[in-house]
Amino acid sequence: MPNRRKLLLALSLVPFAMSAQTAAPTPRDLVILHDQVRVREITSRKFTQTDLHGWLAPMVRAGVVSTEQAGLSGEGRPITLYTYGTGPTRVLLWSQMHGDEPTATMALVDLMTLFHRSPDHPLVKLVRERLTLLMMPMLNPDGAERFIRRTAQRIDMNRDALALETPEARTLKTVRDRFEPAFGFNLHDQDPRYTVGTTRRLTAIALLAPPVDETRADNEVRTRAKHVAAGIATTLGELIPGTIAKWDDTFEPRAFGDNIQRWGTSTVLIESGGWPGDNQKMHLRAMNFVALLDAFRRIADGSWSTTDLAAYESLAFNMRLGCDLLITNARIRPSQKAPAARVDVAFNIDEITDNGDSPTIRVTVVDIGDLRTYAGYEIHDAGGAEVDSLVVKVDKVLTPEQLKSLIPRK
Ligand SMILES: [Zn+2]
Repeated sequence: MPNRRKLLLALSLVPFAMSAQTAAPTPRDLVILHDQVRVREITSRKFTQTDLHGWLAPMVRAGVVSTEQAGLSGEGRPITLYTYGTGPTRVLLWSQMHGDEPTATMALVDLMTLFHRSPDHPLVKLVRERLTLLMMPMLNPDGAERFIRRTAQRIDMNRDALALETPEARTLKTVRDRFEPAFGFNLHDQDPRYTVGTTRRLTAIALLAPPVDETRADNEVRTRAKHVAAGIATTLGELIPGTIAKWDDTFEPRAFGDNIQRWGTSTVLIESGGWPGDNQKMHLRAMNFVALLDAFRRIADGSWSTTDLAAYESLAFNMRLGCDLLITNARIRPSQKAPAARVDVAFNIDEITDNGDSPTIRVTVVDIGDLRTYAGYEIHDAGGAEVDSLVVKVDKVLTPEQLKSLIPRK
């Protein structure tokens, strides 16, 4: 591997010719670029606003990005707007309105690091000259502090776009209305246990150009967003083929994505799901970096408008057919009267974090039966062995030790 890596790095030194649309960097080029600039200090997806400020300090100090305090969180933490570029097209990006969804925040740090470290990179110049990026990483710093979804007021701020009861929601709406950006990116993490339709592939990234009303009919604003999403699906499709899904397109009248689309900013939702063996989501952090940088390029050079919408429209919707652990080919006999059955058993393993307490592990049995349609992050073949029917019941919460006892020894 080291040789191959050296070769990749050598190749990356060849500058991209950005004057013509045909010379756009390939998705692989962007992965290499990310590996060169990513902030190496970020190794865990659990971090606080203090960590974030530390990582962004070099860019702020050097004046690479300009900052302003756009608002304050419920508990008085600053919500900062970071601006890069002086171009005519305004692009608004916000991440981590759910405090436990940090993947895109890491990618935004990496993007700002790229702007700092490689100001002469053709792609960086293109972005700077044609776009004004308005970035609000970690919109919900109080939730991030506890690594929970909701704000300090216990409200899901993504259901507060109309009521505006939270200062975080008011801050986002105020910035949106003040700049009226042409494009918006609504950056989240989804349950990693979604699958791409019935393909039995776990969803790595889900995309959505949110609808503007119950009819889900397209208007011009949404169609533009679909083109941008199609560009992302095309680019990421080369890197992580078959693992990109579409998020549920039901209109949610209280959500920000739907409303910001309705208010006139072409908005794309990017949901980071899961990747086997990557609990800290570092691979998906790289995919976010690639998706966003490539989208900036398409918006900046105008090529977004010529992307084939089919790349987006043909994506399968997320389905709930994934689990953390699957035991296949087991036998269960819960009752003396009923015959034994051959079954698969699906488990989810959650880390429960509540108000800053140390996290606890909760194992739940989610399904029993013929689970051939399921995908699992971990799969064990029981080889026909009988499982303890007192433990294996749907919705039963198990101790980690009980789960361990069910896993067949090799
Ligand atoms: Zn979310």
